[in-house]
Amino acid sequence: MAKRRLSAATIAAQAGGYIDQASGGVVPPIQPSTTFVRDRDYAPHASGNIYARDDSDTVQIAENILAQLDAAQAALLFPNGMAAIAAVFRALPTGATVLVQAQIYWGTTKWVRDFCNRRGMVLVEGDLSKLDIIEKLCAHHEPNMVFIETPSNPWLRCTDIAHAAKTVHNVGGRLVVDATAATPILTRVLDFGADIVMHSATKGLNGHSDVLAGVLATNETESPHWKAILMDRHDAGAVIGSFEAWLLIRSLRTLHLRVEQMSKNAQMVAEYVQAHPNVQEVFYPGLTDFEGHNTAKLQMQGGYGSLLSFCIKGDRVKALRIVGKLDLFHRATSMGGVESLVEHRHTIEPNTGIPENLLRLSVGIEDVDDLIADLGQALA
Ligand SMILES: *Cc1c(COP(=O)(O)O)cnc(C)c1O
Repeated sequence: MAKRRLSAATIAAQAGGYIDQASGGVVPPIQPSTTFVRDRDYAPHASGNIYARDDSDTVQIAENILAQLDAAQAALLFPNGMAAIAAVFRALPTGATVLVQAQIYWGTTKWVRDFCNRRGMVLVEGDLSKLDIIEKLCAHHEPNMVFIETPSNPWLRCTDIAHAAKTVHNVGGRLVVDATAATPILTRVLDFGADIVMHSATKGLNGHSDVLAGVLATNETESPHWKAILMDRHDAGAVIGSFEAWLLIRSLRTLHLRVEQMSKNAQMVAEYVQAHPNVQEVFYPGLTDFEGHNTAKLQMQGGYGSLLSFCIKGDRVKALRIVGKLDLFHRATSMGGVESLVEHRHTIEPNTGIPENLLRLSVGIEDVDDLIADLGQALA
């Protein structure tokens, strides 16, 4: 009989079952050394460690937990999410064709456009959350790689991962999914047939707004693309420090509790703003009449995440006045932290199609009645 697969909650709480062999500690030590001695016969030390760019025990412990959380064969940590995304694209051959979801995390779109232009790659963008659009674009362009983000930021578009995987595999390409807003607690992306899952661990995975980190995970450790990513990280050196990796390990122990509470709170906040007379439209996968709800329901379990957006009735001035009146929601970018944040995205990205009346919330783990009361007085 196959061994029972542990739930993400158990993996998170027990740091992937880690026990420090030297001390018996249930918490791993931080190994800050950048270099490791050799024996008198010049063989590497028993640990096999040579130099910290590749041989950080602390980073490897964190990677082991992250791989287990995504039910993956392997995970690779990067110093932030963008470094992980950049590695995915850099590892493609020059001249490759990539299909990238439109209107996703702006940092991704901006960097990918510039990179593809410089590297002679064909970049096709489209709303890949629509089944007919991804089918048409895959058939027409036969991309080497499709990159989607689900749920997307800030529109919360939900893309059917299993359908996307089948569609791109049909034309011989690979599927990479940015699942930052879902986290492995809500969606184990590789189970739906994706080739690589990416998370900005700066967001929900770390969840305390005090570490920058990014991660890639896969079940295809022998694929040429994954091997090229591995070599790119080794040779170009985009590695995370051991202190950051240790803080991430510490944070991951409560990942399931944080994601569960944030999702519960976000659901109640979404329902509250949807019923508010000064709100025009709400974007949240947990709302049953939301466009992406049925897709989200297929591939998210236990909640729909901390991220939601809504358009108020009114203009830029009114939107900014509401933001200014909030007491509990911090006016700051980012998401997935224990504290609630609000953002006026149009101010940050003026010419990218974000409406001036759109507010984006990252809902934290505070008491939801306090959060709703704060929104109530600001929206009044
Ligand atoms: C923040 C974010 C990134 C980039 O991650 P960093 O850790 O900030 O580099 C990528 N994708 C999504 C969806 C994000 O929210």
